[in-house]
Amino acid sequence: MIVYDLVCDGSHRFEAWFGSSGDFDDQKARGLLECPFCGSAQIEKAVMAPAVPAKSNQRAERASLANDDPMARLLQLQRQFEAQSEYVGDRFAEEARAIHSSGVLRSVHGEATAEEVKSLREEGVPLLPLPFRPRARSDA
Ligand SMILES: [Zn+2]
Repeated sequence: MIVYDLVCDGSHRFEAWFGSSGDFDDQKARGLLECPFCGSAQIEKAVMAPAVPAKSNQRAERASLANDDPMARLLQLQRQFEAQSEYVGDRFAEEARAIHSSGVLRSVHGEATAEEVKSLREEGVPLLPLPFRPRARSDA
């Protein structure tokens, strides 16, 4: 995994994780990247700037405060996650098991009962609870 500082054409800065350096270009080309603050798809890698004295940098400071808004971060994570993971609804347990036994890793998310989660864990299938409720594709 690699993290990039990205910036949209509205000067919003945010971080995004990618599987490899080629994934950024790939996702950008497919229109999967969007600014979590304004939804713009005009995303570029941000140029890393050296630290600037605080006095001349008050605007930038305010902007980075906005970037620290936990809800905005969560929304950003959710959008990124949904762009990279397939929603499988209540077939989650079945799909997770199939992926685990095929050995070909891909990311899926969906709903599972407490019972299903327990038996998946016992079978050694890696899974994590999501910090948000998955949206169906239709209202994405
Ligand atoms: Zn933006």
